[in-house]
Amino acid sequence: MTQPTIVWFRNDLRLEDQPALSAAIARGGPVIPVFIWSPQEEGAWQPGAASRWWLHQSLTRLNDQLAELGSRMIIRRGDTQAELLSVVKETGAAAVYWTRRYEPAVIERDTQVKTALRKLKLEADSFNGQLLFEPWEVQTKEDRPYQVFTSFWKTCLSRAEPATPVPAPNRLVSPDCWPVSLLLDELKLLPKINWDEGLDSAWKPGTESAKAELQRFLTTHVDDYQTARDLPAEQGTSRMSPHLHFGEISPRMMWSAARRTVKNNPTDGLETFLKEVGWREFAYHLLYHFPQTTNEPLRSSFSRFPWVEDAKRLRDWQRGETGYPIVDAGMRELWSTGWMHNRVRMIVASFLVKDLLINWQQGAEWFWDTLVDADLASNTLGWQWSAGCGADAAPYFRIFNPELQSKKFDAEGNYIRKWIPELSKLPAKWIHTPESAPQDLMRAAEVELGKTYPKQCIDHSEARQRALTSLRAITGLR
Ligand code: FAD
Repeated sequence: MTQPTIVWFRNDLRLEDQPALSAAIARGGPVIPVFIWSPQEEGAWQPGAASRWWLHQSLTRLNDQLAELGSRMIIRRGDTQAELLSVVKETGAAAVYWTRRYEPAVIERDTQVKTALRKLKLEADSFNGQLLFEPWEVQTKEDRPYQVFTSFWKTCLSRAEPATPVPAPNRLVSPDCWPVSLLLDELKLLPKINWDEGLDSAWKPGTESAKAELQRFLTTHVDDYQTARDLPAEQGTSRMSPHLHFGEISPRMMWSAARRTVKNNPTDGLETFLKEVGWREFAYHLLYHFPQTTNEPLRSSFSRFPWVEDAKRLRDWQRGETGYPIVDAGMRELWSTGWMHNRVRMIVASFLVKDLLINWQQGAEWFWDTLVDADLASNTLGWQWSAGCGADAAPYFRIFNPELQSKKFDAEGNYIRKWIPELSKLPAKWIHTPESAPQDLMRAAEVELGKTYPKQCIDHSEARQRALTSLRAITGLR
């Protein structure tokens, strides 16, 4: 009988479009799914609290799916190489397959694991299940990585359509004897204190709900995506980001579902949606080619930027108590649900780095701990873009005015009302800037600044001037 193959699961928690699993099945013999919890090997960017919550749920769902195929997930913790070798020893496995990841610390670890396994004459192979295109496949004519999204995406689109996803298997051959496994609860991924109720009611992790949500979005929302995607009060986006991050659904599955749903009638909404999936690809390609950007600005002049250390204002921002309703609503949505609308992510990020002059890395770290979709590639790109120091970034001197952004994208104030109930009685005209509302109106709405809702922690016009002066310090511009 063919010796078993270990499929080492990581951020690819699905059975469909799973090339590592397909290769294991094609090899013949028993398949042993393994998950190893080794956050210490991810360097400075170990999964945050919200990600751990999602991971627990996602592993539960995947284990249920495996049980339906007569299989199960072997769970281990500790040094990855040692744990894989111990499973090899216990089962006589001759091959280990996995899906590639692109985070710098993980690449380094995976390379060491591959070398160690091959030294022992084991088959060790990795596969692409996380991206539409590998980072080394999409380069400029001069063989350099793209730093401008439009040309990057044009080149991606000129390549062959992504392959059709392979369906999940109907059955997996089990080994005669299963190796030792921990219980999932022993990984202690769930929070000790009870702050995860909001996550529980906002999300259903797992492939089945990811596919159902995607289908709902494609049939009812994608046509309006171009405009609705910027309105945080609406359900105008797919909310696929955590499902994608944990690999419960792959970009190929999304691509194929999108094309199948609209068939011969591709709308602008659909193309814009696929372009956003392209931004995720761009983020991964940048992370692969510029691994230092998780901690350093891509534009080196920004390493001289005179950031301010301001623990009090950082805390106000994190808690959603800046006195700017759109910023506070976003930060409270994040705390409560582990997610924030993209438009609002841009607004709160701009506020942190340009109004408060706090280093983008402190924002990236907060997002990292609180987002259920925390993703090193997209988070790094999002923050460097917002700070104006990354690839294809918003220029630093373009500073979002929170009041205008709020009026434009949450005109009725419904998003603010949802996340800041203490402002809910204010009419739309004043909800964006309670600071300027007439006193009688404030009394009628039961809002008292500094008591029921904070005063603005900084004056935007002054902050804007200060930011531009700081920019001059690094660019020499007048
Ligand atoms: P949709 O609008 O439905 O888009 C579909 C998919 O395209 C998303 O699921 C996502 O995978 C991808 N996508 C969309 N916009 C972007 C983008 N700007 N950059 C990269 N990919 C994109 N996204 C993360 O997944 N993880 C993060 O940690 C993260 N951090 C961010 C930090 C900042 C400061 C900013 C400005 C953006 C960040 N983003 C991050 C990107 C974006 O906000 C989210 O991907 C998006 O809000 C997810 O919602 P959705 O799935 O409904 O998106």
